[in-house]
Amino acid sequence: MNSDLNKPKNQVRVRFAPSPTGYLHLGGARTALYNWLWARKSNGVFILRIEDTDVERSTKESVQEILGGLTWLGLSWDEGPYLQTDNLPKHVEAAQKLLVSGHAYRCFCTREELEEQRKAAEARKVAFMYDGRCRDLSPEMVDENLRNGMPYVIRFRVPRETSSVVAFEDAVYGRVEKKGQDIEDFVILRSDGRPLYILSNAVDDALDGITHVIRGADGLANTPKQVLIYKALGIDPPIFAHMPLTLDNRKAKLSKRTHGEVVTIAYYREKGFLPWALCNFMALLGWSSGGEQEFFSRDELTEVFDLSKINRSNSIFNYVPGDPRNWTDPKAIHFNATYIRTMPLEELIPFVKHELQEAGLWRGSFENGEKEWFLRTIDLIRARFLTLKDFSFRGRCYFADDFEFDESAVKKNLGKEPRLREFLPELASRMDRLERFEVHSIEEVFRSYSEEKSVKAGILINAARTAVSGTSVGPGLFEMLEVIGKEKVVNRLNKAVELVAS
Ligand code: GLU
Repeated sequence: MNSDLNKPKNQVRVRFAPSPTGYLHLGGARTALYNWLWARKSNGVFILRIEDTDVERSTKESVQEILGGLTWLGLSWDEGPYLQTDNLPKHVEAAQKLLVSGHAYRCFCTREELEEQRKAAEARKVAFMYDGRCRDLSPEMVDENLRNGMPYVIRFRVPRETSSVVAFEDAVYGRVEKKGQDIEDFVILRSDGRPLYILSNAVDDALDGITHVIRGADGLANTPKQVLIYKALGIDPPIFAHMPLTLDNRKAKLSKRTHGEVVTIAYYREKGFLPWALCNFMALLGWSSGGEQEFFSRDELTEVFDLSKINRSNSIFNYVPGDPRNWTDPKAIHFNATYIRTMPLEELIPFVKHELQEAGLWRGSFENGEKEWFLRTIDLIRARFLTLKDFSFRGRCYFADDFEFDESAVKKNLGKEPRLREFLPELASRMDRLERFEVHSIEEVFRSYSEEKSVKAGILINAARTAVSGTSVGPGLFEMLEVIGKEKVVNRLNKAVELVAS
């Protein structure tokens, strides 16, 4: 068994080990990301292990959601997905081995006895800890109990000498020590023969040859016990790196119940996030390069990422429920918008294509005959967009005629100047007469017409913007008109007369 468990550690092997009991959330995805980064940085192996031993709460949908989420984020795994339940016999074997070697013992205490102990501890106002009364049962006593068919659990025999200390070097928190006397003789095998999670998790890490356990700080409570298990099995423990938790701005733990969909990865996918923008944002929840830089490409982040730079203090996910503008942490939106605006166009296009396809706005010609126009249009409109959804909503007027009119824009830009009934068709016909329909000639039409009519250019410009795009915001008007094209512009200016208040 030892040879099975004590794997050579000549290559970094890390794992993401989610329990498939719900959604892939920000905290879990960040754990996956840090493991993935560490594997890629070290030319190591990233393993995906589904910890499905809680049969009642584990679901297939959750497994699918986790796999789908990781794939979308681009966090590809090299081995797995392994299922923890496949290894249950090995976990039981480990418990038996500990029993044989004397590192564990059978405990025959009944539920009632334990309850009594708990109550006595409560009365003394001390934390309950199993008092170890079965630790030293004589072999004869154990045999008799077994002959009598008494149920038992297997407990780990924690060293009780006053000097005994369990210690490990955490890559983030430094040296962590716990006195043996403060650790209960914990159960590793239930009376129905099922192993406890703490055992399964440690044995799986040994079986998978894991060199670094990178997980949330909530795992820290288990670690001393797991170090005891490793040592008793004659296995070198992995290196541990516990990451701080991410809390909301009121210092509450993130949860779907309190915060809703905003903590799930699926939400960002639906809202039009670029997967790497989200990864970059998540990377900074608990880690910093130590310098000013916050935007990192995949390669850059892989290069600079280091376990020793994971922060010890909890990170804050700055989300205020109920604020419609900030539907997630504004920093996450800022990251997404910045990537959309600045990433190489050829890398953005596949995402935009997917978005337009979903919205029924994609035309094959965008990749052939109209390619140049398409690239120019995307480059023009992306500057103000926050998410990929903007390409099909706010960008609809560039690809289709059935865009919506924003009421307040109509009111403001078409509803105040009745003479627009005359101006818009005249502008349309002057546009129509242009031989070269481009920024400068378009601008010239607006400028000269505004002078001729002694009307402020701004009035014409704002009206035309709303007539052509339905809104009051967007790129520079003349460039916008050029990419939308003469025919559409002329039609829309004429049609908008209906919207002008009389
Ligand atoms: N299955 C555990 C969880 O989802 C993983 C703990 C670990 O990484 O060791 O919290």
